[in-house]
Amino acid sequence: MAQLSDDCFAFGGSLLGIDAARRMIVERVTPVAGVERVPLRQALGRILGEDIAAPIAVPGYDNSAVDGYAVRFDDLSPDKPTTLHCIDRITAGHDPSAALTFGVAARIFTGALLPENADVVIMQEDCERDGDRVTIRPGIKRGANTRKAGEDVARGAAALPAGKRLGPADLGLLAALGFVEVPVRRKLTVALLSTGDEVREPGELLRRGQIHDANRYILAGLLERLGVDVSDRGIVRDEPALLSEALQRAATESDLIITSGGVSTGEEDHVRAAIANHGSLYFWRLAIKPGRPVAMGQIGSTPLAGLPGNPVAALLTFALVARPMIESLCGAALHIAKQFRVVSDFPYKKKTGRREYVRVSLVDTGSGLPRARRYPKEGAGMLTSLTETDGLVELPEETTRLEPGAEVSFIPYSELI
Ligand code: AMP
Ligand code: MG
Repeated sequence: MAQLSDDCFAFGGSLLGIDAARRMIVERVTPVAGVERVPLRQALGRILGEDIAAPIAVPGYDNSAVDGYAVRFDDLSPDKPTTLHCIDRITAGHDPSAALTFGVAARIFTGALLPENADVVIMQEDCERDGDRVTIRPGIKRGANTRKAGEDVARGAAALPAGKRLGPADLGLLAALGFVEVPVRRKLTVALLSTGDEVREPGELLRRGQIHDANRYILAGLLERLGVDVSDRGIVRDEPALLSEALQRAATESDLIITSGGVSTGEEDHVRAAIANHGSLYFWRLAIKPGRPVAMGQIGSTPLAGLPGNPVAALLTFALVARPMIESLCGAALHIAKQFRVVSDFPYKKKTGRREYVRVSLVDTGSGLPRARRYPKEGAGMLTSLTETDGLVELPEETTRLEPGAEVSFIPYSELI
């Protein structure tokens, strides 16, 4: 029976929306990576394996936020200068020997422990020192320039959630809490391969009709930034038997397989067939542009993301499909790319029912929202359209046309990948 080519099930797979694809990823891809302990200095970029509660308070004691004079608030006159006798000198890291007595001030430095009874610190700029006396201007509030024990993190409070990717500031917080080691998820091993008879390694002399493999370098870079071990499987020719063999071997030796190329409907596109033959295919077309042909499935029980061959599409679908798969596999919170309002300076026409991404550079206009300037060359294979732009304008499914001056959503590459 003849089937119409606009039937979304015509090729046995529907044109899936991104939100539905994301839900499917969360449902079907479950964490595989166990938890191990690593020294703090090796934890950068790793996924936290357990919720972290604070074993101690930070800061651990009331202390001074400035260089100045610690006093009792009740010793200060509310409406005229107060002169106090200056006694102790309290420096950071040293325990003041005694509590503050009535009517005296203690010279104190930033981070130094507040003496007992002191409840306000006057900045040295707001005081006049004369020998062993200090005169303080009126108008300060109780508690000013002090830092309370536990005001950053109270003892026992939730400090960091399981599933968070640890950044430099997270390591700083863990260090402040006294951790020497942290529980993190085991690193995933991700098998990466390119497909295509035309694709050759950089350094190889190109014959007519051949290109260098750009995708494996883009994708390996993206994977390394996500903190996984990349198992580089090279380039596989457009031969069903070779591809099946490479995918099956990768499935037994890795946690996830990422391929590029060979997922369209052409006769030389063999990735989809290999998935169907050796595992199951969940979807192979998304309602997006660029990047419509992108497959998700599994070979044996190892999940696979079959990304398109065009580099721009490969990068975008990595962000939309492969990245959430990686996050799900290591029990991480799914990254949500922040979007920012900008003003389009280009007209655009599109079909309904698919989400489109336009490569743009941002121009600061001095006031108001930044303007998004569309990259003049459009093709999904255009590498310079990535290297010379700042990010993507995302046009939702229902949009059909855009006029210059319209507000649109912009995703910087730093948020996307
Ligand atoms: P395909 O999805 O295999 O039909 O490939 C689509 C386009 O992407 C073709 O022009 C390919 O030559 C190109 N392409 C495929 N793989 C790569 C790669 N690894 N690096 C750069 N371009 C590629
Ligand atoms: Mg190909």
